[in-house]
Amino acid sequence: MKKTITLLTFSVFTFCNAVAQQPINIKVKQASYSKLEKAQPISEETTSPKRKCGTPELNESFENWIQKEIQKQEQFANGKKAAVVYNIPIIFHIIHTGQTVGTGYNLSFTQITSQITILNADYRKLNTDQSTYLTQPALVAVAGDMEINFCAAKVSPTGVALAEPGVDRILASSKGWTSPPYTASSSYLENTVKAGSIWDPTKYFNVWVTEMSGGILGYAQFPTVPAGTVPITDIVGWGGSANTDGVVVDYKYLGNSSYAPYNKGRTLTHEAGHWLGLKHIWGDDGTSCSGTDNVSDTPNQAGENYTCPTVNGSVKTDGCTTASPGVLYQNYMDYSDDKCMVMFTAGQKARIQAVMASCIRRNTLNTSYVCSSVGVNETVSNLEISLFPNPSNGELNVTVDLLNSEDFTILVVNTLGQTIKEVSQLHSNGGTIKLDLSLNANGVYFVTVKTKTSSKTKRFILQ
Ligand SMILES: [Zn+2]
Repeated sequence: MKKTITLLTFSVFTFCNAVAQQPINIKVKQASYSKLEKAQPISEETTSPKRKCGTPELNESFENWIQKEIQKQEQFANGKKAAVVYNIPIIFHIIHTGQTVGTGYNLSFTQITSQITILNADYRKLNTDQSTYLTQPALVAVAGDMEINFCAAKVSPTGVALAEPGVDRILASSKGWTSPPYTASSSYLENTVKAGSIWDPTKYFNVWVTEMSGGILGYAQFPTVPAGTVPITDIVGWGGSANTDGVVVDYKYLGNSSYAPYNKGRTLTHEAGHWLGLKHIWGDDGTSCSGTDNVSDTPNQAGENYTCPTVNGSVKTDGCTTASPGVLYQNYMDYSDDKCMVMFTAGQKARIQAVMASCIRRNTLNTSYVCSSVGVNETVSNLEISLFPNPSNGELNVTVDLLNSEDFTILVVNTLGQTIKEVSQLHSNGGTIKLDLSLNANGVYFVTVKTKTSSKTKRFILQ
């Protein structure tokens, strides 16, 4: 793709709202597209599985809008942008046909939540495999921390505590659905399965995990800009409907799986990138050099890359970038194998942060408290808590202020819903309790203080 901001003028493709990945790609046919349905590439042979998305969706008005948002952010920040770590509660809808948990479609809790660990490593630039394949200094220099954190939802939309944080297991027949596999982006998967099981998309990032026919790995719904903020009417509502917002991933490729070369959870890292407004790194222009991903720090790239094109991150050039440091096949928005797909760039972060700040059903997620262990909007008058310093380097002070002397418990919970520390006090009016968390990994955590009658939760960052 080229680096100037080139806006493509698609007509038929303008309203496509989903991106599909398909691993099988020998001779691919494509058909025309419509708003909610699109024909999928037809795979004719299966001898050489490759990652593959459906034909890209580009929207000129969305590109105009997001470039202006990025400019506004940069002007506002005036070079002094404070770190914003956005928190995104996630719910995995596991669609099964009656298998025992841990078998077939009905993935184990450990496998499902391994995906959250992977997302948090990839979106905070904490993945330990980056240096193995990203070795050219000029490419290392553009790697960015997206400052996005994902956490397992702990309560349902009605406030019921989940038996397994982040997990909603659905027996297909109990909903009257046919059994998987489903066709990616089909009306049935969109309007019956997704719309029939979605949780409030202003509070949860919905991820459906099922089997898709045709070897599709996953597909995403793009973000939607808010009505009234732009004079361009054709993008209000673009992206897709509220009741289908989210990502679908084939169950074989979720988290740490056994389906190499897509076994390291990068399918959802890639699809969440689309859900947060990113395009494919090569600009979706076939192999020409005229298209763009509208990201200034990614090299101009002819086409997608498959497998891991070079050993130890050595230079890979192509028809659009013919010299060192070469193209960026290590980017999550390419088609490389999971093991060498290891980074986002700072330019991609600008798009993601603009989407989180301004797009509907994205800009409400950070203040959604469905990852806390208590009710969503509790109003409690006899208990107040505060945390400091926040962010913390390991020592955290929790100040508890109780109206009456009573027993209380402090719980520190990680984004997987696991309690990592628990402290109780009897017959107390509170005070400041010092917690040593220095042995815990960096990331987002929650502190909940509970008494017999009330509780409060606050979030903090360990760094
Ligand atoms: Zn894609």
